[in-house]
Amino acid sequence: MSNPSSPETRSPSTPPTAAAADPALSAPLAELDSEISRLIDAELARQRGGLEMIASENHTFRAVMEAQGSVLTNKYAEGYPGRRYYGGCEHVDEIERLAIARETQPRLIIAGWSAYPRQLDFARFRAIADEVGALLMVDMAHIAGLVATGLHPSPLPHAHVVTTTTHKTLGGPRGGMILTNDAEIAKKINSAVFPGQQGGPLEHVIAGKAVAFGQAASDAFADRQRRTLEGAAILAERLSRPDLAERGITVLTGGTDVHLVLVDLRDSVLDGQQGEDLLARIDITVNRNAVPFDPRPPMVTSGLRIGTPALATRGFDADAFTEVADIIAEALIAGTAEGGADEAVLAELGRRVSALADAHPLYPHLAQQEA
Ligand SMILES: *Cc1c(COP(=O)(O)O)cnc(C)c1O
Repeated sequence: MSNPSSPETRSPSTPPTAAAADPALSAPLAELDSEISRLIDAELARQRGGLEMIASENHTFRAVMEAQGSVLTNKYAEGYPGRRYYGGCEHVDEIERLAIARETQPRLIIAGWSAYPRQLDFARFRAIADEVGALLMVDMAHIAGLVATGLHPSPLPHAHVVTTTTHKTLGGPRGGMILTNDAEIAKKINSAVFPGQQGGPLEHVIAGKAVAFGQAASDAFADRQRRTLEGAAILAERLSRPDLAERGITVLTGGTDVHLVLVDLRDSVLDGQQGEDLLARIDITVNRNAVPFDPRPPMVTSGLRIGTPALATRGFDADAFTEVADIIAEALIAGTAEGGADEAVLAELGRRVSALADAHPLYPHLAQQEA
């Protein structure tokens, strides 16, 4: 290696003194960029203090966050394992092979639409595809975790291609997967991904996926998915109260088979936007969602999508989900009162939310500055 500082002038026992690295390289985020650090901290406080019930969200493993925040973020690795355009890929190759080893496990093949509370008949979709000579691709990002644990029928025996995200019920890093059992299709997809579309792959995210796929095979993960379904069933049942129905608030399809409930507000004075805002005031995060034949505009909607994956990850059991369901029911009743919601009622519901959040600590290893 060439070295401009003339190694021959140094005594052999003295190691070469490199120029000091930029101290910024090793500075903690809180020091280097206190504004970003403060905002991340505020987000941690928000996640800890409230109840996350957006059906497409989850709390991922500390290990996934470690993998994603690791030195892998530095690595370029265009190509596929063993056939890279860059050197130094021996470790990332191994990581990718671990993540691929899991991809071919049918129990990890995932299915789900974004706001449909029932199971789909994949065999019928395939029969229709065959009838018209089409290939079947199932984009079922939502229910990956349920399929992985056998709690929802797998689309893989029926679909030619299955696409999914890795961060919803699967609870891994933000990302996706394309799955197929057909060697010809696999070859075409691989070529389309690289060199077709992809630049440098995110090796740190691939490592996070490998961690998440490993966890998806665990008993604890299966129990989490079981509680996810149980929680949604409890929500559907307890939001079907007669006093809610009297106020025009019902559960779409009368129940759920999956991890989410769609509350139907078409006959209610409360619209989707108001319902979302109302629950946000007591630190429950959901999203407004259009329902079939929704009479209100798409930015307002007449529905609320309420999901249980993140709370199941946080350890919620049947009792805790019952309490959440009752809090939501009481908030919706308060929200439909003439003259608006009673502030004292909302404050008391907010205290019940805080008690639930405190009883289910989130990421205790992460330090959080006092607000
Ligand atoms: C969430 C989801 C995706 C992925 O959406 P991103 O915004 O890219 O994360 C794709 N398909 C369906 C059906 C989804 O629900």
